[in-house]
Amino acid sequence: MSTKYVYTFGDGKAEGKADMRNLLGGKGANLAEMNLIGVPVPAGFTITTDVCTDYNKLGKDAVVAMIKDQVVAAVADTEKAMNAKFDAKDGFPLLLSVRSGARASMPGMMNTVLNLGMNDDTVKIVAEHSGNEKFAYDSYRRFIHMYGDVVMGVEAEEGKHNPFEVVLDEMKESKGYKVDTELTVEDLKALVEGYKAVIREHAGVDFPTNPWDQLWGAVCAVFDSWDTERAILYRRMEGIPDDWGTAVNVQAMVYGNMGETSATGVCFSRDAATGEDLFNGEYLINAQGEDVVAGVRTPLEITTIGSKRWAERNGTSEEDRKANFLSMEEAMPELYNELNTIQQKLEDHYTDMQDMEFTVQQGKLWMLQTRSGKRTGAAMVKMAVDMLEQGLIDENTAILRQEPNKLDELLHPVFDKAALEAATEISKGLPASPGAATGQIVFSAEDAEAWAAEGKKVVLVRRETSPEDLKGMYAAEGILTERGGMTSHAAVVARGMGKCCISSAAGVLVTGTSMTINGVEYKEGDFISLNGTTGKVYEGKVATITPSLDGDFGKVMDLAEKNSRMYVRTNADTPADAKAAREFGAKGIGLCRTEHMFFEGDKIWNMREMILAEDVEGRKAALAKLLPVQREDFSGILEAMDGFGVTIRLLDPPLHEFTPNDAESQAEMAEKLGIDVSVVKAKVDSLHEINPMLGHRGCRLGNTYPEITEMQARAIMEAACDLKAKGKDPKPEIMVPLIGTLKEFQIQEGIIRETAAAVFAEKGVEVDFMVGTMIEIPRAALTADQIAAHAEFFSFGTNDLTQMGFGYSRDDAAKFLPIYIEKGILKNDPFQVLDQEGIGQLVRMGCEKGKSARPNIKLGICGEHGGEPSSVEFCNSVGMDYVSCSPFRVPIARLAAAQANLKQN
Ligand code: PEP
Ligand code: MG
Repeated sequence: MSTKYVYTFGDGKAEGKADMRNLLGGKGANLAEMNLIGVPVPAGFTITTDVCTDYNKLGKDAVVAMIKDQVVAAVADTEKAMNAKFDAKDGFPLLLSVRSGARASMPGMMNTVLNLGMNDDTVKIVAEHSGNEKFAYDSYRRFIHMYGDVVMGVEAEEGKHNPFEVVLDEMKESKGYKVDTELTVEDLKALVEGYKAVIREHAGVDFPTNPWDQLWGAVCAVFDSWDTERAILYRRMEGIPDDWGTAVNVQAMVYGNMGETSATGVCFSRDAATGEDLFNGEYLINAQGEDVVAGVRTPLEITTIGSKRWAERNGTSEEDRKANFLSMEEAMPELYNELNTIQQKLEDHYTDMQDMEFTVQQGKLWMLQTRSGKRTGAAMVKMAVDMLEQGLIDENTAILRQEPNKLDELLHPVFDKAALEAATEISKGLPASPGAATGQIVFSAEDAEAWAAEGKKVVLVRRETSPEDLKGMYAAEGILTERGGMTSHAAVVARGMGKCCISSAAGVLVTGTSMTINGVEYKEGDFISLNGTTGKVYEGKVATITPSLDGDFGKVMDLAEKNSRMYVRTNADTPADAKAAREFGAKGIGLCRTEHMFFEGDKIWNMREMILAEDVEGRKAALAKLLPVQREDFSGILEAMDGFGVTIRLLDPPLHEFTPNDAESQAEMAEKLGIDVSVVKAKVDSLHEINPMLGHRGCRLGNTYPEITEMQARAIMEAACDLKAKGKDPKPEIMVPLIGTLKEFQIQEGIIRETAAAVFAEKGVEVDFMVGTMIEIPRAALTADQIAAHAEFFSFGTNDLTQMGFGYSRDDAAKFLPIYIEKGILKNDPFQVLDQEGIGQLVRMGCEKGKSARPNIKLGICGEHGGEPSSVEFCNSVGMDYVSCSPFRVPIARLAAAQANLKQN
């Protein structure tokens, strides 16, 4: 049997169907399916994606010869179904649209040709049969323009205007017209000749008047558009393989602009913004699709309820509405009923909200497209819960249909949509932490605190942030930084706080007490607004609203819970964050970064005293002052997570992060500690490191200053014993950071266990606890079996593991990563999305080796990837017990964990 290259559809019949997406592309498969379920669709045919592959191998002529007979037969079928002739000599001609349609949606990336089949003869027949000469010639000149551009490659030369537009503009100017609709029939006829001349001049050949030549030209142009630069780049970004190819859909044109019994519109089977189960959409009488989209005329509501709501929002009286703004339901009741039945049928058939396009041509309704509609986070959640309760979908579908990242929209304040549309965008940076923030600019953490204490809303603007800025960050509505990537201090801490943050904002220069954005100065006290979800910065105030976590959100979370293998912990350093995360469903803390605790209130001074100490005795004295303070911190956090495991990491960052760099603060430090400022300066200088991320940090601190470990272990165990004595159930897990060798761990473990035994003896109380380590240095992953023989748990620090595996400094990578991504060198920022191919091997090896030495070892992740859905899926596949992420990502991770489990089963 010869190969089938062409699949026809029309008149309630189709050779393809919905599940033939790979061969027919998404659009072609749905057009076929609509026919099969009795939805009126203009007839046509789909040339398969396989032909595209052949086209790229064999070339144009061979492929045209190969598919010619089948295409000719399919056109004949289409003629029959539509009762019209292609290349007609009389009677309304069959005009065609030729569109691309790949397996995966590639919006706007490939070519489309409309009104194909028009020439000097058919245009006259169209004019006669439609009784609308203007419509006929307008369609004709649009076709010549589109064909000239898409098929014949006539487009603007560099630095020049599009030659078709030049002709059109000259015409409008000479006549004094403002809009295209003012063009008369005679003008349009002149444009047709003008456009043909443009083609002759630029392409060196005449515009083809034979419809068959037009068709072959258009089909090949669609195949050619698979390999345009922008299509290739798009595929690379989206991970779409080059060998999939595109299908070509050839379909009869129908027109919504053939008089008062014609119309066109777009509709949704449910509300895409709110999720409400209410059919809605917009239409226009005597118009074509472009008019609805282009905003030349204001479209009207399809349903009467929608129309009444619109009038209320718009301040339009019911009288005025009835006179001028009738819904389709009122203006074309029978067609409306038919459309309403079809939308319901399509939603029931696809069991999802449908986004549909339709056209009414002289009283007959045609559906042009249906697809599952895009939706907001709130709508996504509501629709899934409603559809589950309506019996339309099952639990697995309800879970798998959620886009985890979209839950974010439900958790942070968001901008009022209308206010945002009216706002002026002044810069764009990395969307480091989602949400919306509006406030007055301040340039220091102290000012942020002081202004906030006065009840002002502030946005903290910094070149970059450091742990010293923590309190100011807390006080601010949002944070904007000139520098830093997605795992910069500002980004990590802001996400932890659930606070909006934009980093590496383009064109922003911060100089201490002022900021310029692309040359415009912004002073302290000026209002700006940040959209941390998109990374966009706006001038002035933009109104925000706080979304409520209604019942549907909870229902989706319950479903996730029921269907997960892994559980979710949180990265939290304060009792408040721990409580917030617990409310979102976190079951424990996966990472408490103890260093963050030192920046609260006066604690920094004890820390600085410890750093300044010249010997062990001096350090011990300072640490003795820190002990009760740390004990209290740990007590708060263990209590907030009572009954769940709390992984507390020993001190990790290089010490210089705790010391002030400017002269003024050094003087303050000298005075406060009663020493000479030169001593402070000398110490600060001695702590300075060239690459602090690879320097004196992590367990290297505890192994050089064991007394720090001893103090922290004591504070943790004392807090836990006191809580236990009060009837609580603390579950501390002490974690050693930045292990590269077993010995590094063993020495720390020894100190921890000895200290714990001493505390238990003193208190007369014992608490179950664990000692484990981060796996965040490649060498630790490679020797994980040795380490697991001693460590009771592993927590993968994929921030550092990525840094050291790639050799990209976390603090500096933002300078080149965006360019790498733009050039396709990297698909994603590896600090956001775990590099499964490379760094993932280290993680997998760490898990496997860990389990080989200790089968019941507890495995988790606490790098930023713990809240990123594709990385969560990876963690599930390597057998981790939990993922840990910042409090506001907990719901996202819970959903991702459920999806991973369902997909992997
Ligand atoms: C990590 O390296 O992944 C980690 C969680 O630790 P930190 O980000 O504090 O270095
Ligand atoms: Mg780390």
